[in-house]
Amino acid sequence: MWPERFINVTNGVTPRLWMIQANPALTALIDSRIGTDWKYDLDRLKQFTPYASDDKTRAAFREVKRQNKERLAALVKQRTGIEIRPDVMYDVQIKRIHEYKRQLMKLLHVIELYQRIRDGEDVLPRVVLFAGKAAPGYQRAKNIIEVINQVADIVNNDPLVGDRLKCVFFPNYEVSSAAVIIPAADLSQQISTAGFEASGTGNMKLALNGALTIGTLDGANIEIRDAVDEENIFIFGMTAREVAEHRAAGVPPSAHLDSHPRLRSIIDALRTGFFANGGRVLHAQLASYLLEEDPFFVLADYAAYSETSNRVDQLYQDPEAWSEAALLNVARMSYFSIDRTVREYAEHIWGVLPEPVQAGCPPPES
Ligand SMILES: *Cc1c(COP(=O)(O)O)cnc(C)c1O
Repeated sequence: MWPERFINVTNGVTPRLWMIQANPALTALIDSRIGTDWKYDLDRLKQFTPYASDDKTRAAFREVKRQNKERLAALVKQRTGIEIRPDVMYDVQIKRIHEYKRQLMKLLHVIELYQRIRDGEDVLPRVVLFAGKAAPGYQRAKNIIEVINQVADIVNNDPLVGDRLKCVFFPNYEVSSAAVIIPAADLSQQISTAGFEASGTGNMKLALNGALTIGTLDGANIEIRDAVDEENIFIFGMTAREVAEHRAAGVPPSAHLDSHPRLRSIIDALRTGFFANGGRVLHAQLASYLLEEDPFFVLADYAAYSETSNRVDQLYQDPEAWSEAALLNVARMSYFSIDRTVREYAEHIWGVLPEPVQAGCPPPES
């Protein structure tokens, strides 16, 4: 009856916190190229676009990332005791722990990288960092946190692996730790099952800070792809429609192992408690959960995820091409400012006009 009453307003994040406060080094680099106007109107960040093809800006951007990684490495050392190198890819999945967000898929990938290193393959060195809380009553999410920590413990202490792969579960994730992790990230994991994430804002904070996204066509990843262009984002996996079709077809999750021997050996390592340090029950439980239920299609999407991750690694080995894509992400994220979101509410929903205010001036007495 009233289709006009249903409208979409895309979320945004505040550049005051997620750029200017969290990433002073990148803020200074942008200032040095396009001045400071963009701080008052993020649309002007578009003026930074041509610098993505400038060698000196790319080199300066890599130096910014390195400084931010050193800052994060110090915090990781303090919080967890784990030592991480500042000269490798920082691959982060930071968000509440939930089955649909599929931290388990990233964990299977950590196991894949670990196995490939042990098989003698020359795998791109990296730090994988998970952070996120589980809701108090969400037992499976808590089990996932425990298993991530146990896998990390084996991986981080294997002399055959050395510092080629470190896995960190960063405890007590909240805004002030996000503000240290995000500026240091190279790769942003946005791998929820298509159809489940309403929007996502972590994806926006990370892309604004020059991390490339590997993600599904879910939530705001779709709009981020439209903004940054499909060659500057890694999209993989089933679409929401394909997820629905896959569910209707009733494929048993274990069938996905038949065509993928690596996935079979990853699941076997979990099932047999290779990483469990004695208490294999939880690991075996998660393996059966994936093989028998897998309500969020981790196994169905795994082959695509793993292949796309390999493409990510290839691009990372070309620092100029990677920096160009990362800088284009920064310059093209202005649409995701919360100021644009609020302006849309004001225009389309509240019907109010902006009122100029004097900075530092207290609100008038009513
Ligand atoms: C941005 C943010 C989130 C939201 O992350 P998503 O990836 O969008 O789920 C959650 N927690 C903290 C602390 C954040 O800063």
